[in-house]
Amino acid sequence: MQYRKFGNLDGVEVSALGFGCMRLPVVSREEKDVIDEDRAVAMVRHAIDQGVNYIDTAYPYHEGQSERVVGKALKDGYREKVYLATKCPVWMLKKQEDFDQYLEEQLEKLGVEYVDFYLLHALNRQRFEEIVKKFDLISCMERAKAAGKIRHIGFSFHDDLEVFREIVDFYDWDFCQIQYNYADTEEQAGTAGLEYAASKGLGVVIMEPLRGGKLAVPAPHLAEVFPKEKKPAEWALDFLWNRPEVSVVLSGMSTEQQVEENLEYASRSHVGMLKEEDMEMYCRAGEIFNTMALVKCTRCEYCMPCPSGINIPEIFSIYNRTATDGKNAAKELYKAQETKADACIRCRRCEKVCPQHIGISAMMLEIQEEFQD
Ligand code: SF4
Ligand code: SF4
Repeated sequence: MQYRKFGNLDGVEVSALGFGCMRLPVVSREEKDVIDEDRAVAMVRHAIDQGVNYIDTAYPYHEGQSERVVGKALKDGYREKVYLATKCPVWMLKKQEDFDQYLEEQLEKLGVEYVDFYLLHALNRQRFEEIVKKFDLISCMERAKAAGKIRHIGFSFHDDLEVFREIVDFYDWDFCQIQYNYADTEEQAGTAGLEYAASKGLGVVIMEPLRGGKLAVPAPHLAEVFPKEKKPAEWALDFLWNRPEVSVVLSGMSTEQQVEENLEYASRSHVGMLKEEDMEMYCRAGEIFNTMALVKCTRCEYCMPCPSGINIPEIFSIYNRTATDGKNAAKELYKAQETKADACIRCRRCEKVCPQHIGISAMMLEIQEEFQD
């Protein structure tokens, strides 16, 4: 394993690869929130045995079950080997006191005395103004730190560059977590945000390095941009490890094979590992990806479950395939879906939580029209 600096935090060195616990293995496709605990625990422990020292979870992952399973994985001496990160579900806070309640619940589920890295989860303009500022969550974080319940203060982010800069400047954060990959250099915080945060001394944690897996199994005309000497996932991860501003790259690993492959890629990683001509290739690949993707869904599943039973990320994934596989092939897949886009009742519950700000209910209308006979 390779280790990297974490912003200005003295004495903290994080593994190049972090284990993101939002896509742990599940017992079956039908029961997506029932984690296959034995497999998940074995995978997390194996990664730690191989040098991974950053474990990332959050209150809502796997419908609230991720933290409990992470706690299980960190028993038997594993807690002491890692930095543990989890996140305050800011959108669930109705008053300031809720902060302490959630933190206590999280510590209990994780079975730990403290977390190393505590983040205000998925900040955007509205949550920043109406929750973080209104309830003075920074004071809550500082009190929790003084009480020894959290060690370092950060936030994760889904909005645009202007909002990102504003939040970075608002407080003397230890770190931040941003969505970044070769297709998102101009999206959300983007390259400019990454550089800005690092210049201010923040450790930068990268999420969605493979855009919900789409960069690991790219469409054929995207895959052919990359030489075959590395797999597409390795090319995508190397793009991140190449940059000095990046501290740790989180991968939401779901299989033993993904863990093995990522460990191998991380062991070869270092700052400045790419050549100048490689960068042109990533630019081209990013452009192709962005013209192909009709809906920028990362399959995070925050929008699930939908009260009408629509598998929202699956419907979007199928719709996106019209650009790569053609409309007829996508339509066949769409027809096989038990609940289709026309079941949407426009409650917009999903839109309140979608970190990509997708107009989901409007998209459902568009998709239904596209695929109707
Ligand atoms: S707006 Fe439509 S897709 Fe979204 S949660 Fe409501 S019913 Fe489901
Ligand atoms: S629609 Fe939004 S919330 Fe739902 S899976 Fe896609 S990115 Fe996540």
